[in-house]
Amino acid sequence: MSMSMKKVSTAPRRTKLALAVAAIAVSTTAAVPQAFSATPTAVSTTVVGARVLASVSSLNVRTGPGAAYTRVGALSGGSFVLGVVNNGWLKISSGPYAGRYTSAGYLTVVKPPATAAAGSTVTGWVALTGGIPANVHTAPGFKYTVGRTLASGTAITGKVVDADWIRLNGTGGYVNRGTIETLSANVTSVNGSLPAWALCPVNRAYNSPQPFDPGYTATTRRYLNCNAVRSLDALQSAYKAAFGHYASIDLAYRTYSEQQYWYTTLGPKYANAPGASNHGAGLAVDFQEWEGHTTEFDWGGAGSNWLRANGGKYGFTQPYAYGTDGESYHFNFAG
Ligand SMILES: [Zn+2]
Repeated sequence: MSMSMKKVSTAPRRTKLALAVAAIAVSTTAAVPQAFSATPTAVSTTVVGARVLASVSSLNVRTGPGAAYTRVGALSGGSFVLGVVNNGWLKISSGPYAGRYTSAGYLTVVKPPATAAAGSTVTGWVALTGGIPANVHTAPGFKYTVGRTLASGTAITGKVVDADWIRLNGTGGYVNRGTIETLSANVTSVNGSLPAWALCPVNRAYNSPQPFDPGYTATTRRYLNCNAVRSLDALQSAYKAAFGHYASIDLAYRTYSEQQYWYTTLGPKYANAPGASNHGAGLAVDFQEWEGHTTEFDWGGAGSNWLRANGGKYGFTQPYAYGTDGESYHFNFAG
């Protein structure tokens, strides 16, 4: 799932799981709306999250802020997009059309949700991707049995239990709120393009001491889904109690452009396509795996063994069988 990479190796020591998922599909056959004729006055000086109106089948993306500019693609109705609004146009800041423009007249700005009180109803979609489902527990806690799972993109409606859990309507069962995104039914459009308010900072004390591509250092702030951060803190407390130090982390949330970097650098055999990594959902962590490190997070390493045995108590699970070509250091927050 990850495509972390050793700094010094001449060849990857481990085969990374490849999932050649097509980049965001663009409809070229659906009706294309005419350019927005009025001029919205809304201007944002910072990046906002926006959703293409569901009634729009295909929203043009152009090289500049005007209908006369060349059309380079389109966004499907309901897709999520990040950008800056100016004079009726959104300059896209993340995703396959970063740097391009689309008419703001067909967008609704998505604001940070108010804190959902216990008992309130929430709707959303399973944010996990890459074949990893969200766990549905029989009661609101990681320790309770996983009775079933929900595939990527599954629509859910439920009632808020507390800051971490939702009780599903209908069939019942409990999902961790971190595994559910509420921005768009098109979870691929959300992946790698999360607004800042949908992420929480990871304690820098967990940072790997080694630099890591692209551009990470021992002091770079990492981010994750906020529920995942809370669970990671609990995991790290237990890890430190067992080992005397935290489990070092190379990478957490990855933006679309970071994933593109890895996809371009390593190719589909070793990197998920942009939009198809659980790192892009803020729901994956790569523990330390740089060249010359200790064997702590290798297969059979003390840290890897501990995480495999105990990670599930905090919602973090490894998708690979022991000793396989998968990544010994990669864990998903699947609830
Ligand atoms: Zn990873």
